[in-house]
Amino acid sequence: MFSPALLSPVVATLDGSNLDGDGAESFAQAPTALGQFVTGLIIFGPILGVIAGGVVLFDHGLTILDVILVVVFYALAGHGMTAGFHRLLTHRSFKATRSLKIALAVCGSLGFEGSVNGWVANHRRHHAFTDRPGDPHSPHTVAPGPWSTLRGFFHAHVGWLFQGQMTDEHRWAPDLLEDRDLVVISRLFPFFCALSLALPTGIAWLFTHTLAGALGGLVWGGLVRMFLLHHFTFAVNSACHLWGRQPFQTANGDQARNFAPLFLVSMGENWHNLHHSIPTVARLGVERRQIDSTARLIRILEIVGLASDVRWADAARLDKRRRVVSTSA
Ligand SMILES: [Zn+2]
Ligand SMILES: [Zn+2]
Repeated sequence: MFSPALLSPVVATLDGSNLDGDGAESFAQAPTALGQFVTGLIIFGPILGVIAGGVVLFDHGLTILDVILVVVFYALAGHGMTAGFHRLLTHRSFKATRSLKIALAVCGSLGFEGSVNGWVANHRRHHAFTDRPGDPHSPHTVAPGPWSTLRGFFHAHVGWLFQGQMTDEHRWAPDLLEDRDLVVISRLFPFFCALSLALPTGIAWLFTHTLAGALGGLVWGGLVRMFLLHHFTFAVNSACHLWGRQPFQTANGDQARNFAPLFLVSMGENWHNLHHSIPTVARLGVERRQIDSTARLIRILEIVGLASDVRWADAARLDKRRRVVSTSA
């Protein structure tokens, strides 16, 4: 069993309080050449798919099957990360049956954004040291100087992925390391990456029985979907800490903002200011017209009995967290 002391950083991130100190930790694994090559392949490889998709689009147009594969695999992997990796496993916003937990963790692993346990450890660290030294992907921790906003955006978006492993899973995700299902799913991450490309390719071949059809599935359901999902979810780390409104109070220095244009493609994760204000709440889009498809999914799972003890936003608690807007001149 893990000790309560080991859990303290986890508890701090679950209840939304920042940790004291500057985030310096002894754990750090410098990037290896192979690691950086694989990261580069995963981040920049899909651009080749986007170019191939553009050529096909220009030559023959898109098939209905291509569009369906992009949307279905985007929604599957995306909600696996937002509902599974993020709201269930990082913040414990609800309880899930074992089958639902496994299904969400597997779907999220199709997103090419790291193993489930590594993702959760990094994200908890982000909450504990938000926008201070120790935050793995803040746009506000780059050295001041010319182009600091642009450099910060790049660092928070993809640059931090090339800096090696800074987050110790034993410190930040000991509860997940106690879960045999999640340990196995984490170890199988390379297999799920291969599956994430093989599935749309295979499905397209089954429907078309042609090589061109199968390649269309690989390009659209695999690479283009991977590119779109990467950059729209990476934008939660970059854009949502730089631009947008802050209607709710966050800890000192925490720059989390609501960046409205991303509402559909980020599956509700863009309502990031409320999320940093009360991280355990299952619905981030708490205002009228703030669409949050992940919260809708959790509600459906609750109705059918797969999710329980969902932490929905309480109006009184929300009101306590709203910023007081000064009306004086
Ligand atoms: Zn954030
Ligand atoms: Zn979070």
